[in-house]
Amino acid sequence: MNYVSTRGSREAVTSAMAIQRGIAPDGGLFVPENIPQVDAGFIASLVPLDYRQRAQRILGRFLTDYSEKELQECLAAAYSADKFDCPEIAPLNTVGDLNILELWHGPTSAFKDMALQVLPRVLSLALTKNQEKSDIVILVATSGDTGKAALEGFKDVPRIRIIVFYPHNGVSNIQRLQMVSQEGGNVDVVAVRGNFDDTQTGVKILFQDEKFQDKLAASGLQFSSANSINWGRLAPQIIYYFSAYADLLANNRIVAGQPVNFVVPTGNFGNILAGYYAKLMGLPVARLICASNSNNVLTDFLQNGVYDRKREFFKTLSPSMDILVSSNLERLLYHITNGNTVQVADWMDKLKTDGCYSVAPQELAKIKDTFWAGWADDALTVEAIRKVYTEYGYVMDPHTAVAWQVYEQYRSQSQDQTPCVIVSTASPFKFNESVLQAIGGSKPAVEDGEFASLEALAKLTGWQVPAGLAELTGKPVKHTLVCAKEEMPVIVEDLLGMQGK
Ligand SMILES: *Cc1c(COP(=O)(O)O)cnc(C)c1O
Repeated sequence: MNYVSTRGSREAVTSAMAIQRGIAPDGGLFVPENIPQVDAGFIASLVPLDYRQRAQRILGRFLTDYSEKELQECLAAAYSADKFDCPEIAPLNTVGDLNILELWHGPTSAFKDMALQVLPRVLSLALTKNQEKSDIVILVATSGDTGKAALEGFKDVPRIRIIVFYPHNGVSNIQRLQMVSQEGGNVDVVAVRGNFDDTQTGVKILFQDEKFQDKLAASGLQFSSANSINWGRLAPQIIYYFSAYADLLANNRIVAGQPVNFVVPTGNFGNILAGYYAKLMGLPVARLICASNSNNVLTDFLQNGVYDRKREFFKTLSPSMDILVSSNLERLLYHITNGNTVQVADWMDKLKTDGCYSVAPQELAKIKDTFWAGWADDALTVEAIRKVYTEYGYVMDPHTAVAWQVYEQYRSQSQDQTPCVIVSTASPFKFNESVLQAIGGSKPAVEDGEFASLEALAKLTGWQVPAGLAELTGKPVKHTLVCAKEEMPVIVEDLLGMQGK
């Protein structure tokens, strides 16, 4: 299985090379040359397997240049009992008549762990496979959750340096503390004065700066990416769509072949796109419901076919979805147009120069065959958290609550009775202050410190604070750098000791 760019440079590369490079040389994203197909027998065979074994079956179809043994070792280390706090890894919970796929049982309490525990291991192997002499610099732009998950995944991995940029004042308190207290000899964390899109753009500019790359090369280094533009991030996310379906079968909530809907709280379009790949492979997925917050650029696009990022940017209670440029949409466009790379490159060019582009009616119709989209503002988000807690005693984080809210809209508009899985992307403890307020807990006094809300939420709900968050108390701050977005290149040079080279 080889990978090609969404923008047309026709050179096909192995998965190890796609993962090492992160982004294609023409600025496009790597996509599989063809989509592996599965049948009912394959899906049924997943039912008795545990998560690691299921993961091996799915990843093995995409990372064909890795041996079975290599994948097995990566997955055993990634989804291990000392990283994940439950043996199911991605448990499927039942709340009322809905299924909730909990993707936040990993070390950083958000769904990014599902992929970022795997990526560093497959990237490390890729360097050997590709006989790469340079060491790797991972640059990450994070809206909050990716940064910590990448730091945890990459810390002290040989031959890899990681620098994480996050929007100053654009992440939750817990998210910030998780990052600035990060340990590891190969990690740096920098706050950027700007929002997530500024931060992501800053990283993209560096990736495309050939002069900078030459300087890096002279220092024996090269870039790669841990953002969801990297295929090594996307592929592990396909696993849990299959796993959820297998669990529905195992629990007799569906029969073999029965279609299922998934509702996905969406920002960069990475998570939901993995669901689309699962569908393209043959998993019986009817609808993928894209849930956005007030930054509803994807809702407009999936409804009207016009992508327009020229709009007000909102900071919301679901900061990991505060995104106006959803990078992974490019991969959807590639598949929707049957690989029309000229068209995709043109749209991406328009997005860059005009800030918007639109797809033709027949392309929109094709998108709408699978996707439905809606959005919920902060007030509706809070209402959903409260309602679900009051009715079912289940505590949702704000991202998951956006999905719940959008699903209610979908169900009342469509009357669709298809079984549905809500993809839950963060532990409520990660966004404890808004959750606590939503379910009527009183806000602890400021002087009680950063962790009073965590404890208050635990006390009120009877849920346990995840270990990774509990242990943040008293961890020293190690990273204090703040920079303007224009300064990002200089900061990278400084941190890597490239000056004067
Ligand atoms: C990253 C993230 C999302 C958005 O996922 P995308 O793949 O960017 O669409 C949603 N919720 C949480 C908690 C996240 O961390």
